[in-house]
Amino acid sequence: MRSISIFGATGSIGESTFDLIRRNGGADGFRTVALTGGRNIQRLAEMARELRAEIAVTAYDDRLPALRDALAGSGVEVAAGNAAIADAADRPADWVMSAIVGAAGLVPGLRALRHGGTLALANKESLVTAGPLLMETARSYGATILPVDSEHSAVFQALTGEDIACVERIIITASGGPFRDWSVERIATATLAEAVAHPSWSMGQRISIDSASMFNKALELIETREFFGVDPAKIEVVVHPQSIVHALVGFCDGGIMAHLGPADMRHAIGYALHWPDRGAVPVERLDLARIGSLSFQAPDDAKFPALRLAREVMAARGLHGAAFNAAKEIALDHFIAGGLAFPRMAAIVEETLSRMNGIGRDAQSLDDVLLADAAARKLATAIVNEG
Ligand code: NDP
Repeated sequence: MRSISIFGATGSIGESTFDLIRRNGGADGFRTVALTGGRNIQRLAEMARELRAEIAVTAYDDRLPALRDALAGSGVEVAAGNAAIADAADRPADWVMSAIVGAAGLVPGLRALRHGGTLALANKESLVTAGPLLMETARSYGATILPVDSEHSAVFQALTGEDIACVERIIITASGGPFRDWSVERIATATLAEAVAHPSWSMGQRISIDSASMFNKALELIETREFFGVDPAKIEVVVHPQSIVHALVGFCDGGIMAHLGPADMRHAIGYALHWPDRGAVPVERLDLARIGSLSFQAPDDAKFPALRLAREVMAARGLHGAAFNAAKEIALDHFIAGGLAFPRMAAIVEETLSRMNGIGRDAQSLDDVLLADAAARKLATAIVNEG
């Protein structure tokens, strides 16, 4: 029986993963090793009971008593804290879903790779923060990383059986988010509720706001570069409001392979779950005649500076990805908490990167990455407080 763990089980990707695990037999189809969550203790406990997990871990120490109560008599071990989440990744599992949000997903993912199994990677921040380290860890332990981000799963599928040397371009699509057609002046007044209201995807709060600012696509540009190892000049972004085409790969003979599917993350998660085979996944089937037309447009870099910043980060490499992601997380925290105007997020990231200019180009130990992450968080916080 295949063993699995889900890191970030209570989130949007975690729920979709749980749904597919349940549809494929649940506790009778898989041996569940670890499930982790954050504040949603009741849901974590429900999932752990249903899948008969070995251990359930919350990221927050103060939630441990509640988790212990909720799982009393179930036989499921409980633990709390970031170190306990990383320790849970030391328990071998054949297939591990990495779906914690933010840089907090990096260490559990790295630890899980050491078992040489499969890491289904939704946590794009790991690749942005420490791409070379993550890929090298996978290589040295003989582990497989399968991309779960819809665009990267699409590219991965389009590349199956192809020679990466013949790839001329990789085009990832962006819905454009809720502010696609807003003026710069209107974007300056955007509220949290407006930023979270994604037009085509249902996702966690943080990635939804990142989609509105195009920081999500910026992270994905870097993710593409790190995962597929292609020259950044070959990676393009095109705005595609219908979110039907997820990515396209152009080859040296002029042909382009496009991947189409509904805006439902269970396709990409299911692909990673069944890989290298294909298995049935209960997503809506596309009715192209009803959809009628698919449209594409160039992204507006002036309105959304995140893509330009990502290109600068890809050129600089080294620890710049860690600094970029950390500064973005701090800016996002402040936008969510209130008091920070929407466009200030990009300004804070840009200012953090410019003040950190000169951080190592090549250093890539985990300690180097964590130090750069912490330094960028401190600097970005100071810049927010400068007003
Ligand atoms: P959610 O916010 O919905 O869920 C995040 C999960 O991580 C929850 O289980 C949450 O626990 C847990 N968590 C939150 N903070 C911490 C922390 N500091 N330490 C440990 N666990 C924590 O996020 P999504 O599911 O939307 O996204 C997860 C990842 O997948 C992100 O990296 C995102 O970019 C990526 N992704 C998401 C897509 C989507 O459609 N949602 C699409 C493609 C990629 P709790 O909720 O209990 O507090």
